[in-house]
Amino acid sequence: MLSKHVSFKIGGPADYLVEIPAKEALKEFFRQIQTDKVFVLGGGTNILFDSGGFRGAVIKLTGCFEEFSFDGETLTCGSAALLPLLVSESAKRNLSGLEFCAGIPGTVGGALFGNAGTPQGNISDALQSCEVFNAVSGEFEILNQAEIEFEYRRSSIKGIICGAVFSLKSGRENDILNLISAALDRRKHSQPSGVLSAGCIFKNPPHLSAGKLIDECGLKGRKIGGAQISQKHANFIINCGNAQSADVLELIEIARAEAEKQFGVKLETEIRIIK
Ligand SMILES: Cc1cc2nc3c(=O)[nH]c(=O)nc-3n(C[C@H](O)[C@H](O)[C@H](O)COP(=O)(O)OP(=O)(O)OC[C@H]3O[C@@H](n4cnc5c(N)ncnc54)[C@H](O)[C@@H]3O)c2cc1C
Repeated sequence: MLSKHVSFKIGGPADYLVEIPAKEALKEFFRQIQTDKVFVLGGGTNILFDSGGFRGAVIKLTGCFEEFSFDGETLTCGSAALLPLLVSESAKRNLSGLEFCAGIPGTVGGALFGNAGTPQGNISDALQSCEVFNAVSGEFEILNQAEIEFEYRRSSIKGIICGAVFSLKSGRENDILNLISAALDRRKHSQPSGVLSAGCIFKNPPHLSAGKLIDECGLKGRKIGGAQISQKHANFIINCGNAQSADVLELIEIARAEAEKQFGVKLETEIRIIK
């Protein structure tokens, strides 16, 4: 069940769920695979799968893709390395550059795909290069940061991100730890914790906060089936335990329609809705 692999805990069965532990295995998988419907899953923290499941193959990179190493101020990692772990391992070495990511769950691959970040910075800021597998040509390619377009919660990367190199800077232990704890504090005060969610549902429209708009539409606490718009942060939808994807989708449509009706703002989803 895909629900086991995502933070929302929503999603039916996939036809195939394949763990791929190394680059050669990734190449081999695409040589042999019969379906052209393949979805790459990272940490599953920004995804709404359909409760009916996924008719195709879901792949999850593991093994070598989870490894990382430091050489001076350079961090080299596989795309399945967990971002929170990289934040803490960088801090242990007094390396600065990823502190703003503290509290963003998921993997480096997912973070680069959506240019994850906060108002304090984006994952692309520290990126030097990343390695991408092109499933059509069967080739691996290194892309330098400048060759990739990064925007707010979007990158132009096509293909499967296999690894990345980040340039960090030596810093003072206290400064780094203070930035991390400030990032975690901001999150604790503004976002629901200890609940099942997929992070922010909508992207913030330019110069506006999606959460504030939804709040001003009077939708905090609105519940459909097992899904509810968070009382704490209206841009979060919470799975109260037994939510179906249709419950979440209905809440998304209500929020979108109200924001357009009341403020003339079209909200665009940040989470990936996978059918
Ligand atoms: C409590 C909570 C707080 C959050 N706070 C933030 C925040 O402050 N800022 C923010 O930006 N996000 C936030 N998020 C959303 C989410 O954590 C980030 O978007 C994260 O970077 C997604 O990474 P992931 O590995 O979980 O990706 P997934 O959710 O698994 O996938 C997201 C997308 O990335 C693609 N992808 C994943 N791995 C690869 C790969 N190797 N190659 C190619 N494509 C890939 C997937 O196909 C999918 O389209 C939050 C989520 C939660 C649950």
